[in-house]
Amino acid sequence: MAPPHFLLVAFPSRGSINPALQLAERLARAGSRITFFTTVFARRRMIDSVCLEGVTFATFSDGYDNGYQLGDDAERFMAELKQRGSEALRGLIELSSGRGLRFTCVLNTVLPWADHVARSLRIRSVLVWIQPATVFSIYYHYFNGYEDVIKNVTSQSRDSTSLIRLPGLPPLTNRDVPSFFNLENKYAFGLPQMQSIFEQLKEGDNPIVVLANTFDALELEISRAIGTLNLIGIGPLVPFRFLDAQTHNSSDKSPRGDLFPGSGDYVQWLNSKEEASVIYVAFGSIAKFSNAQKREIARGLLEAGRPFLWVMRESDGDDDELIYKEELDEIGVIVPWCSQTEVLSHPSIGCFFTHCGWNSTLESLASGVPMVAFPQFTDQMTNSKLVEDVWKVGVRVSEIDEGGIRVEGGEIKKCLEMVMGGGERGDEIRRNAKKWKGLALEACKEGGSSDKSLKAFVEEFAKVD
Ligand code: UDP
Repeated sequence: MAPPHFLLVAFPSRGSINPALQLAERLARAGSRITFFTTVFARRRMIDSVCLEGVTFATFSDGYDNGYQLGDDAERFMAELKQRGSEALRGLIELSSGRGLRFTCVLNTVLPWADHVARSLRIRSVLVWIQPATVFSIYYHYFNGYEDVIKNVTSQSRDSTSLIRLPGLPPLTNRDVPSFFNLENKYAFGLPQMQSIFEQLKEGDNPIVVLANTFDALELEISRAIGTLNLIGIGPLVPFRFLDAQTHNSSDKSPRGDLFPGSGDYVQWLNSKEEASVIYVAFGSIAKFSNAQKREIARGLLEAGRPFLWVMRESDGDDDELIYKEELDEIGVIVPWCSQTEVLSHPSIGCFFTHCGWNSTLESLASGVPMVAFPQFTDQMTNSKLVEDVWKVGVRVSEIDEGGIRVEGGEIKKCLEMVMGGGERGDEIRRNAKKWKGLALEACKEGGSSDKSLKAFVEEFAKVD
C-alpha cells in the first residue's frame, strides 16, 4: 500500500498551528507523508528545530507577512486569507499534479475555503476541529434545527439563568456558549464562517469524518450525540514530551510552532520552588487586557501571596508602567512569552490562571495542573464551563463589568485559594486533575483510543490510494 499524502492547511494563529504541528507529527509517525501549508508569517515564526521527518512545508503570503495584529480589521484579514489562500492552494495542488504528485486528502483546521478548493479539484477533504467536541456539538445543533432554542437564551442578558438544552450536552446558560452567538461581540462575524463549515459538512463524502482534538474518555458521549457525523477524537494534540516515559520516550523533540527561543531563566527560578507552589498566569496569544484589568490581576496575585510566573505579552494591553511592579517582582516573575508546555509540566506549578483557550486547557489537563478560568471569547466560555462543572478540574471566576474591569483582584485571590489551598473542593479539584492527566496519557499511548483512531484513519486512506 502506498503511504497516503495529506495536505494539511493551517490557520496562521498559534492556537491552530500548535495542534496542527502535533497532528502532522503523529500522521507522519503513523506512516503517512504530509505537506504542511500555511502563511509565510506562521512558518517564519516556527523555531528552527521544527523540521519533522515526513513533513514538507509550503507557504503562501496572505498579505500579512508581519502578522495580523489585534486591532487590525479582522474581517478584512479573513477575506484576504481566503482569497490568497484559495489561489495558492489551487496553484500548489495543480502544480504538484503536473509533476505526478497527487494528494490523498486535504485536511483543514476550520478553513472552509480549503475544503472548497479540495472538492473542486476532486480531492477528499476532512475537517480538523481544534476546539472541544462540546463546542462542535453546540454549533452543529444551532445549524441543524436548534437555532431558536439557542437564540431564545442568547437574546437575553449575559447573566440570564435560563437554560439551553441540547442533545447529549449538559444544560448551558448564556455565559457558557461560544461568544460568536453574542451578536454585540466584535467577533460575531465568526458565526457565518461556522455556518459555511457546517453546510459544507452536509455535502461531504459518506461517512462524514471529522478529526477532533479531544479524546474518548473526555468527550466520547458528546461526539456520539452529534447526528450522523463521525467525530473522531485523536487528541490531546499536545507535545509528546507530556506523554514521555509512558509512550514514546521522545523527551523534548516534538515540534512547537510558535516558540521564540526563550531565555530559560524562568526554568531556573521554577527549579528553586517547592512542588505545586507556583501559579502560572497566561492568557494565550490573542487576548488583550485594559490597564485596569491588569492591575486587578496584579492585586489578586499579591493578595494570594504565592510565587507566580506571569506571561505578559508585549502587545498585551496598553504600555503604561504596571503598578505594583516592585511588590510583584518580590514574589514572582513576569516574562513576555515562555514555553508553556515546558512550564506546565514543571513540578513546581500548582495552578494555571488561564483564559481557557482549547490548547491551554488540554495542555493543563495533560499535565495534571488545576485551573482558574477567566474566559475572554469564542469557545473559551464553554471550555471554562467544562473545566469547572463537568471535569471539575478548576473554578471559573465570577465576572463584573465596571470601568474596563471584568474580574476583581479579590475574586482572583479567592479562586486561586480555592484551587491551591486546603478545603474539600480544592482536594477534589487536584484529585481530578491527576485523574485527567492519566486518562490523557492513556489515550495517546500505543493502543490508546486516540492512537488507534488516528492509525485507522491513515490506514483507510492507504487502502483508497
Ligand atoms: N503559549 C506558549 N507560551 C506562552 C503562551 C502561550 O507557548 O507564553 C502557547 C500555548 O502553549 C498554546 C498556545 O500558545 O499552545 C495558545 O493557544 P490557546 O488555544 O490556548 O489560546 P489562543 O492563543 O488561541 O487564544
